Amino acid sequence: MQKVYDVAVFGGGVVGAMIFSDLSRAGYKAVLIEKELDVATGMSKANSGLVHAGFDAKPNTLKAILNVRGNKMYPAVCKRLGVKLKNCGAFVVGDNLDAVKELYNRGMQNGVKNLFVLNRKELLSALPNISDNITCGLFAKDACIVDPYLLTICLAEEGVVNGGAVALDYQTSSVIKKGNAFEISGSRGKILARRIINCAGAGYNDIASLIGSEQYQTEFRRGEYYVLDNSEGNIVPSTVFPLPTKAGKGVLVTPTVDGNILVGPTSYESDYDTKTTDFGLQDIRAKVPLMLKNVNLSKTIRVFAGVRVITGDDFIITNSKKVENVCNIAGICSPGLSCAPAISEYVIKKLLGLEYKAKADAVKIKPYLRLKDLSITAQNKLIKQNPDYGKIVCKCEGISVGEIVDAINRPIRPVTMDGVKRRIRAGMGRCQGGFCSDKVARILAKENKMKIEDVVKEHKGGYYLFGDLGGR
Ligand SMILES: Cc1cc2nc3c(=O)[nH]c(=O)nc-3n(C[C@H](O)[C@H](O)[C@H](O)COP(=O)(O)OP(=O)(O)OC[C@H]3O[C@@H](n4cnc5c(N)ncnc54)[C@H](O)[C@@H]3O)c2cc1C
Repeated sequence: MQKVYDVAVFGGGVVGAMIFSDLSRAGYKAVLIEKELDVATGMSKANSGLVHAGFDAKPNTLKAILNVRGNKMYPAVCKRLGVKLKNCGAFVVGDNLDAVKELYNRGMQNGVKNLFVLNRKELLSALPNISDNITCGLFAKDACIVDPYLLTICLAEEGVVNGGAVALDYQTSSVIKKGNAFEISGSRGKILARRIINCAGAGYNDIASLIGSEQYQTEFRRGEYYVLDNSEGNIVPSTVFPLPTKAGKGVLVTPTVDGNILVGPTSYESDYDTKTTDFGLQDIRAKVPLMLKNVNLSKTIRVFAGVRVITGDDFIITNSKKVENVCNIAGICSPGLSCAPAISEYVIKKLLGLEYKAKADAVKIKPYLRLKDLSITAQNKLIKQNPDYGKIVCKCEGISVGEIVDAINRPIRPVTMDGVKRRIRAGMGRCQGGFCSDKVARILAKENKMKIEDVVKEHKGGYYLFGDLGGR
């Protein structure tokens, strides 16, 4: 007889992975269904990586409530998973003290602690390079930065080691209610589940139309970024925002947990397409000097874009009124990353009415090994045990053969070049894989017993190599 899952979660972004992990740790049988070849390929792969303090959202909205709660939950989640979270704080800077005070008051209403209104002199002691026009600002001490894709991957892995299943590359063709379960049919067979959570991001309406649940009018807004080389990593110690406008939080400058600097994002209506544009990048170039001096965009190692999925002023997180046992999670734009732990708690406890607490015997994942983070003595010990840790493949990030092999042989095996990159950062450095991607592709092919010509960058058909390889 076919297994019936307690819950099927559509969408392997940070929200779906968090819910999947929490359900599995609590002892439920859960399956995470993702249409791409890997998790963390939607909004959760391309954002600013900020765990906001929660002062920006309108009071009493889900965004505000879940952001403040999510911010408090993050340290425990990241500690459990061994994912880096840096509490570097965030500044909002500008020349309008009334607007700064309004943000402060909103933060107070939302229950944000450790907020401080600062004058220019106080700002200068933390941010010596603020522009001449900046007169005041707000400091949110509890804001943090995190690696959003590694977090998502680790959560999905955690769901797996706690008994959950992940169906990648699953193209759903129908969802039919049969007795007290849903029969989900798709490209990789049938899945039976008693409940469905639809958190498929940009694909929410596609899944809703198959289920017969509510569809929502959706707007997409592209956010483009520059990534600066880690030689620039010290230009700001914290995230620096301008004062927010109706279009959003504005073009920010932030360190990343891995020592780069992100500059962006833009915010304009677009298709769900992650291309970057001259128009967007120029917009960033024009805005940054209004906030900070000496941001050297010539140190850019990459540009990228993410696309926000928006369904109105607030998130939609509700049980379907049309189809019983279906939970709709739509329009999780910013600050969805910050809210993710709290969204999961809210959905599991309040909407599903299930047990949220992890079982006493819930299993932890093995944290990703990064030689760079170890002492020389610990590195040497590892290299003695396995010489592959001494063979550096990605010179920019200092990633060895051993680390790449480990990153592939995990509870969810990456099958794409980007999958390896997001797990272990091979190809994320200054040369952006120019020197190492050939070796990474060979290791990936060998470990997954694939032909090298079948290795793809991210999506099906997006082959890394093509043409006649001349027997190589
Ligand atoms: C430019 C930008 C900057 C941002 N900055 C921040 C920030 O600094 N801090 C913050 O808190 N938030 C930020 N956000 C918001 C944050 O990224 C999102 O709220 C969060 O990633 C949403 O996660 P998700 O799981 O809902 O969606 P996604 O990550 O998009 O996941 C949805 C998943 O569903 C899958 N899917 C789609 N269709 C189907 C289908 N038919 N079947 C199965 N699977 C399907 C997709 O492939 C995808 O993997 C930002 C967003 C953007 C775009």
